[in-house]
Formats: sequence, C-alpha cells, structure tokens
Amino acid sequence: MNNVVVVGASLAGFRAVEELRHQGYDGAITVIGAEPHLPYDRPPLSKQILSGSWETDRLPLTPIGKDVADLDVSWRLGVAASGLDLGARQVDLADGSHVSFDALVIACGAGVRTLPGQPELAGLHTLRTLDDCLALRADLDATPRRVVVVGAGFIGAEVAATARQRGLDVTLLEALATPLQRALGDAMGAVCADIHRDHGIDLRLSTGVDGFDDDGHGRLTGIRLSDGTTIEADVAVVGVGVAPNTGWLEGSGLTIDNGVVCDETCLAAPDVVAAGDIARWPNGLFDEVMRVEHWENAQQQGAHVARRLLGHLDAYRPVPWFWSDQYDRKIQLAGRSSADDEVQVVDGSIEERRFVALYGRAGRLVGVLGMNRPRPVMEYRQLIAAGTSWEDALAR
Ligand SMILES: Cc1cc2nc3c(=O)[nH]c(=O)nc-3n(C[C@H](O)[C@H](O)[C@H](O)COP(=O)(O)OP(=O)(O)OC[C@H]3O[C@@H](n4cnc5c(N)ncnc54)[C@H](O)[C@@H]3O)c2cc1C
Repeated sequence: MNNVVVVGASLAGFRAVEELRHQGYDGAITVIGAEPHLPYDRPPLSKQILSGSWETDRLPLTPIGKDVADLDVSWRLGVAASGLDLGARQVDLADGSHVSFDALVIACGAGVRTLPGQPELAGLHTLRTLDDCLALRADLDATPRRVVVVGAGFIGAEVAATARQRGLDVTLLEALATPLQRALGDAMGAVCADIHRDHGIDLRLSTGVDGFDDDGHGRLTGIRLSDGTTIEADVAVVGVGVAPNTGWLEGSGLTIDNGVVCDETCLAAPDVVAAGDIARWPNGLFDEVMRVEHWENAQQQGAHVARRLLGHLDAYRPVPWFWSDQYDRKIQLAGRSSADDEVQVVDGSIEERRFVALYGRAGRLVGVLGMNRPRPVMEYRQLIAAGTSWEDALAR
C-alpha cells in the first residue's frame, strides 16, 4: 500500500490520516473534502460558536503534538467526490478530475435532512457545517425577535438552548410526544421537555410543520403548523436529523443501505474501509448492525480503519458514547437506548436533574444516561462492555 485516498475532510478522515502516520505509514495520502475548509470540529457549532463565546480559530483539528503540515497530506478541498470505480481503483471528482488509489477510506459523513418541500428562504436554516453556523449566527446577531427550531433532537435542542441563552424568544417544535423520544424513551424525554420549559422555551409537542410563509421577497415570516395555526418567525432552524452522504457511491458495487455497509472490521470491499457517520457495521457487542452519529465514534473508527488498512484484523466493538450540552446540563449517553427499553434511575433524582438512568433490554444492561453525572456513566459503560446482566447492574 503506497497511495491512500480519504474521501471526507472531517473528524473520521482526519483521525484515519493521523493514525496511518502514527503507525508508520509513509506513502502518499490524498484527502478529498467537499467543504473548502481543513478539518474542524462540529460540536461547538451548536454551542460555543453559535453563542458567540468562541471564535472559529478554536475549531481546526490538529494532530496531537504536531502541526497539520507534519501529516504530509495532499488536500483536495472544495471539491466533492462524485463517483467510485472500484475495478479501476479510482475516485471521480465533481470538477471532472480523477484520483487513483490503492486503498480508500470513505469518511464522508452525513448531511442534513430537510422537510418535504422545504423552500430556500432568507432566515430559514439548517446546521451541519461551519458555513451553516456562521450564517445562522449572523442572523441571530441581527436582533431577531422570534426564533423557531423545528425538531427537538440533540442538535435542535442545543440550538434552542443556545438561542434562548442569547436572550431570544424561542419556540421549539417536535412532531413526537416528547423531545428525544426515539433516543431516550418517554420518561427521559419528558425530563428534557421540562428543562426547556423551565428556561422559557415555548415547547410544542406532537406538532408538525405544514409550510413556511415569506414576505414575497424571499424572507421567512412564519411557519404553518399541523394544528392549523401559524407562528411568526424571523429565524427558523430545521433540525430533523441527518442522512449518510452515499449518493456518490450509488452503482459503485459497494453495499449501500443507510450508510456504507462494512464487515465487523469496517472493511467495505478489498482495501476499502468506511468510518464515522457514514459507516454501518455489525457491532458484535450489541448483536446489531449499527451506524453511529457521534463525535467519539468518528474519532475511534477513523483510527480503527487506518489500522485495518495496515493489516490489523480486530473487530470494531465499541460501546458508543456521546454528550450534549443544554443550558447548564451535560447529558451523556453510553451504549444503546430505545423507546422500548426498561429504564430505571439508579443514582440522584430526576427532580434535581442530576441523575443516572440505566437502560435494560432482554435481561442485559445496554445503555446508561447521565445528567451532570459523568463519572458513573463511564463506570456503567464498562459494565455494558463486559456484557453485565440487567439484574447485576441494578444490584450494584
Ligand atoms: C452542530 C453539531 C453539533 C454536534 N454536537 C455533538 C456533540 O455534542 N456530541 C457528539 O457526540 N456529537 C456531536 N455531533 C456529531 C459529530 O460532530 C459527528 O458525529 C462527526 O462530525 C462525524 O464525523 P465524520 O467525519 O464521520 O463526518 P462529518 O463530520 O459529517 O464530515 C464528513 C465530511 O465529508 C464531506 N463530504 C461529504 N460528501 C463528500 C463527497 N462526496 N466528497 C468529498 N467530501 C464529502 C462533508 O462535506 C464533510 O466535511 C455534532 C454535529 C453537529 C453538526
């Protein structure tokens, strides 16, 4: 292997490059990135950068103890990969050029979903990239009165919290009966709902969007709701989830099914690996084919696939983990959780909003949710990795 191409200049791709060099690979590396920027961190986009407490110079990803230049990468930024010819070992780019490889890392992440028929209007935003964030921040700076966030998933909830902390009037719309219902279940979703209400958010649950109103000159003025009412809005953010960026891989021969499907080592085809938000692989620890949209996974899986290309054959079996910051609450979830799991608070209390809740399924501990309780989350995470039974976890 002497010529590695990475598609996606973000966290998973960056960590793959870093690990290749760390492991002593000294061949060529080309990174292709659709955005014009060198790799940067996304979590602050809904938190510190959006609030204005950080400037963008804190975002770039850097290798530990080194400069980016030390990685000796040929960057092809601002141009998307548009096709893959596996037989010829070649990536086609949107500018008509081609890049050949003898090993390929697919790390092109996920892009935002939009609502059916969602128009392009000034004041109407989505949030995935630095440019999205700066456009939204500029609109929030322009003293809007009314901000509406559509979708109370983690990104929507964080944007609502940040806008509220900037002193703006915020309405948060959610089509389901509680925020984060699919991720956390009803009981824990209800806790999150109360937190938003206590901070003065106008939270409207079981409420969908029928359409958007504008002033006739392309600027958003309001949102029509499924209950027949309309709310006025100067700025709106649609946060209804993401979809893996697989379009350019259609017809390539790779298996595409809600992501790039890999084996348990993250190999998608000979000398082709996938990592981060784009990758779907069987995680033997959970007996589940999963795709994970969290920062830590992108980082770890990026490093894992680098080692995979260098001949390490270990299965990738992490206990996924993520955090979300909303107001002064730090929410962390390790493992898997779903609306159908058994849920039990084992430490602290919901009233104090400082607690640990466990998720059990089929007699096994599968997840742990902590609110302002980071250390127990990490302890239970180890128990999840060890395959601890639900009974034993509760008996601790
Ligand atoms: C606003 C925001 C806040 C977040 N906060 C948290 C948090 O608090 N905690 C947490 O755990 N996670 C958080 N995340 C999720 C985390 O940032 C992602 O899981 C992580 O960025 C995934 O990394 P990735 O490298 O797999 O993909 P991405 O970061 O999505 O990067 C993929 C890159 O590939 C590029 N690309 C796409 N298609 C092509 C193509 N055809 N050719 C070339 N390049 C292409 C994209 O433009 C992008 O730059 C947040 C995400 C966002 C957007």
